[in-house]
Amino acid sequence: MNFEITNPDKIIYPKEKITKKDVVLYYSRLAKYMLPFLKDRPISVIRCLSGINGECFFKKHPKTERKHIKTFFMGGDTENDEYFYLTKEEDIVFQAQMGTIEFHIWANKVNKLNSPDIMTFDLDPDEKLPLETLRDGAKKLKSVLDELKLKSYLKTSGGKGYHVLVPFKKSLSYQKFSEFSRRVAELMESLYPNLFTSNIRKATRKNKIFLDWQRNTKGATCVAPYSLRARSGAKVSMPIAWKNIDKIAPNEIDIFSGVKGKNVWQDFFNLSQELSN
Ligand code: ATP
Ligand code: MN
Repeated sequence: MNFEITNPDKIIYPKEKITKKDVVLYYSRLAKYMLPFLKDRPISVIRCLSGINGECFFKKHPKTERKHIKTFFMGGDTENDEYFYLTKEEDIVFQAQMGTIEFHIWANKVNKLNSPDIMTFDLDPDEKLPLETLRDGAKKLKSVLDELKLKSYLKTSGGKGYHVLVPFKKSLSYQKFSEFSRRVAELMESLYPNLFTSNIRKATRKNKIFLDWQRNTKGATCVAPYSLRARSGAKVSMPIAWKNIDKIAPNEIDIFSGVKGKNVWQDFFNLSQELSN
């Protein structure tokens, strides 16, 4: 893959002295694993043109940008109705070259705007919740999904929590899709009321995990597998095998270990294949 890196020595993560070159090279190495999750799916990106301690912005609309992206309109024909998506590994690297740090994906592809195919459960622990309790919650969610005959995949958020992804082959409207995810969250709360809350209000979260199902609505996004986070530490949202949940903390994998994490990629391979069909 040929690409150019302008300002390669620009510091992106000041504390770790990670440069723009490091970020672009990270994405060039991971692009092939990442692409199946991004390809033909509307995305939003977080750009930090002066590094993560400078001003960062969430870019949802292409506006005047046209290179290395494809675009589509949804619900109107103004700038704010236009969204974008990528189709090639080079497009991912080009985003990094343009200052993108984080990639966020929708639950549907562009050719199926009202038919989401990745359900996300975002496990957000209360600040003081012990990590073992968070892990216990994630395992309990998996076992309920198993009982429902739904295969689930785990990734770190690169921040405080884990994300559990459930691929859907059947065509479901967003309305039914998000209602189902809400019911799963409510079910978890009623099975384990001391462990989970499905209520977004902070006050209900004390010593619990907020099981956020609201990413399963149209236009909502989740950080993409393998995306870096624009936070101190250069952490990565990394797919991990369920059997490794006790070994890998939500903020464990960073830009350096992420590149080496070949052993954890295999688990997500099936999912990426499923999504490419
Ligand atoms: P953590 O484990 O720390 O909770 P996370 O990825 O689950 O990490 P956030 O980084 O807080 O949580 O992201 C919250 C959600 O909001 C993500 O789904 C993201 O796609 C979305 N998001 C982030 N920034 C914006 C923004 N500026 N505008 C709209 N949506 C955003
Ligand atoms: Mn979260």
